[in-house]
Amino acid sequence: MAKKILIVGAGFSGAVIAQQLSEQGYEIDLIDERSHIGGNCYTERDAETDVMVHKYGPHIFNTDNKEVWDYIQKYCEMIPYVNRVKAKSNDKIYSLPINLHTINQFYDKAFTPEEAREFIKTIGDRSIVQPKNFEEQALKFIGKDLYKAFFYSYTKKQWGCEPSELPASILKRLPIRFNYDDNYYANPYQGIPRDGYTAIFDKLLEHENINVQLNTKYDASYSTNEYDHVFYSGPIDAFFEYKFGRLSYRTVYFEKGVAEGDYQGNAVINYTDDSVPFTRVHEHKHFTPWESHKKTTYFTEYSKETEPDDVPYYPKRLPKDLNVLEKYQNEAEKLKKYTFVGRLATYRYMDMHHVINEALDVARAFIQSTKINA
Ligand SMILES: Cc1cc2nc3c(=O)[nH]c(=O)nc-3n(C[C@H](O)[C@H](O)[C@H](O)COP(=O)(O)OP(=O)(O)OC[C@H]3O[C@@H](n4cnc5c(N)ncnc54)[C@H](O)[C@@H]3O)c2cc1C
Repeated sequence: MAKKILIVGAGFSGAVIAQQLSEQGYEIDLIDERSHIGGNCYTERDAETDVMVHKYGPHIFNTDNKEVWDYIQKYCEMIPYVNRVKAKSNDKIYSLPINLHTINQFYDKAFTPEEAREFIKTIGDRSIVQPKNFEEQALKFIGKDLYKAFFYSYTKKQWGCEPSELPASILKRLPIRFNYDDNYYANPYQGIPRDGYTAIFDKLLEHENINVQLNTKYDASYSTNEYDHVFYSGPIDAFFEYKFGRLSYRTVYFEKGVAEGDYQGNAVINYTDDSVPFTRVHEHKHFTPWESHKKTTYFTEYSKETEPDDVPYYPKRLPKDLNVLEKYQNEAEKLKKYTFVGRLATYRYMDMHHVINEALDVARAFIQSTKINA
């Protein structure tokens, strides 16, 4: 039986695999180049305001997977939380995702659901039969006014390119609701952990078989001789020293502000106009409505292309990236001692519940295969 395991990355991918394997008697060394566990889900109390801050951007746990929901609750108390995002467009505040309230606000109407449905049919661009890109898909569904107000500039700021350069598949379904439901997510299980996300990782990693080493970077010079297997959750292109080139990512950065009381009255407000250089503002005390704080801290979020020293956030997955990815995946498949897991090593955008689900599957398959081969 393989006993000694190296895990690279202390995000949900690495931590869940470590938790599963440690309980089966494997000895785990888990390394992370950062000074903390938790990966991009890391939370900490802000020194000035005592507000629980999501350091790499707001994280709301939401899933339709009951097994993952039950699993995560073994490690935290999840408080039900509904994310209700607002949009600022042309100096007015609207409800998001676009719903009956937004349509009535935008067109100054009092439509019923059926009336709104009929109206939207009349404003969609009927000349577009087979949408070739994101822009055409949006225009076909909702017409140019709603598209310009809520999608065009926001998408351009977020992705750094014209929406007509993005694939139509990003907008698979009609992006509006014909009722007053303003819950940002559609999944049945939604919440925020009472004590933040980092406390979950403390619990996942508390087994005596897990040895965590922070500030430790894995690269080609890192010796893995003593390990029977390696789980790697860093960027796949970095693993192969970028020999086929870099995969492209968007990254985000934040400007922090502190104020008395309540800064914007809501957790997240998107800024959808071109004239505003940032994409959104998040005020983190609203993610913990069960706490009370005199002061508040908020973060203005900007999006930009990822430079070599930036944290990679959103995989762009352009056709040229997918070509390069295939080359790395072919190399990865040859390395039987390594398993590539999580959002960076598989170069996909994944929510926390996807990552946890896949990590559970990977760990169970590994345990099964090493039992068989023992
Ligand atoms: C802005 C933003 C908001 C999000 N909001 C939500 C949300 O609301 N709900 C939701 O479900 N999901 C959300 N997500 C997605 C969520 O962050 C991911 O699903 C999750 O973090 C992925 O976990 P992971 O372990 O695969 O990767 P990560 O969390 O990125 O962990 C990878 C770890 O590997 C380490 N590492 C990388 N390379 C090396 C190396 N060479 N050596 C050592 N260590 C290394 C990194 O330091 C990092 O700690 C959001 C993501 C972003 C970017």
